[in-house]
Amino acid sequence: MLWVSRMSNKNQNHYSVIIVGCGPAGIACAIQLKRSNIDFKIICNKFGGIANNANEIENLLGFPDGISGQSFVSTLKQHFENLSIQYTKDNIQNVRKVIENENDLFHIKCENGEYYSKFLIIATGTVPKKLNIPGESKLWEKKRLNYEMYNFIYQKTIKSIAIVGSGDAAYDYALNLVKFPVKIEILQRSEESKCLPLLQKRAHDNSNINIIKKIKLHSLIEENNKIKLKAIRESKEETRYYDFIFVAVGRSPNLNFISRDLHEKYRNSINLPNIYFIGDIKNKNYRQISIAMGDGVKSAMKITRDPFFRKKNE
Ligand SMILES: Cc1cc2nc3c(=O)[nH]c(=O)nc-3n(C[C@H](O)[C@H](O)[C@H](O)COP(=O)(O)OP(=O)(O)OC[C@H]3O[C@@H](n4cnc5c(N)ncnc54)[C@H](O)[C@@H]3O)c2cc1C
Repeated sequence: MLWVSRMSNKNQNHYSVIIVGCGPAGIACAIQLKRSNIDFKIICNKFGGIANNANEIENLLGFPDGISGQSFVSTLKQHFENLSIQYTKDNIQNVRKVIENENDLFHIKCENGEYYSKFLIIATGTVPKKLNIPGESKLWEKKRLNYEMYNFIYQKTIKSIAIVGSGDAAYDYALNLVKFPVKIEILQRSEESKCLPLLQKRAHDNSNINIIKKIKLHSLIEENNKIKLKAIRESKEETRYYDFIFVAVGRSPNLNFISRDLHEKYRNSINLPNIYFIGDIKNKNYRQISIAMGDGVKSAMKITRDPFFRKKNE
């Protein structure tokens, strides 16, 4: 049975469903919609999302030996290819609700195009938090400080790296970067690490990873081609030198491009008809691939069962 081929609106840029974000949440949603023969468009600026950052994913069913983040994303790409699903690579700039010909539609404005849909899936994950200390943005502009592993390009001149943070991501980054000939220091504010004990043990056992505790960063500045980091440790001023800085101090929901009224609904957890926030964007501290994928499948199933599609096939 053909559910619906394309929204009744003949306009080429109208879809029944638009998914923004091709991380595990958006991808799982797309695959499930495809199985129900519902027309959709999926848009993102980075296929695979932050799973690309992961050093080793060891908690995903189907991968008993673990899998690197990038290899996992290759399997997702393969799955799309097998099902002839294409994604549109673009930067989403604005998402809002419009009333058009008595039909509520969502308007999605991207850098290179604009689209309308009856249903909207927001699966745009999270953005990294910043340190907000002097010198941070300048180093970022000069590509000597980074927040995402997938953006990092190793150069031989990099001999020492500081990773700021004490959670899973900070330790995962350290274990990933240690494959290069570099000395790594994890700089954490607290005495206790917040990451999984097994990651702590691996970092602890690696002679190229040093963990500096109870350190509060003050400023970052380039000096004689090094990065000079000023900090306070146990009430004493301290200066340390590195070639590169990674910041992994948490993440916030990625909602910047959403109109104020939709933002309000998100903040107040009000369920708007026809809009779904799925994956990390709404999962607070429960940011995991399996949970994101589960959200994706569930939202697609809910849409499939919506009276809108049933009416179309009557
Ligand atoms: C270092 C690290 C290691 C991890 N290890 C594991 C692990 O071992 N096991 C595990 O289960 N989880 C792990 N995770 C968590 C896991 O990666 C996330 O839970 C998962 O990727 C969330 O999926 P998502 O689809 O909700 O969001 P994301 O993966 O963040 O995807 C968001 C999507 O939205 C797109 N997007 C955002 N804004 C825009 C815009 N303005 N325009 C266009 N596109 C946009 C992005 O390009 C991307 O495609 C790890 C995370 C990190 C950072």
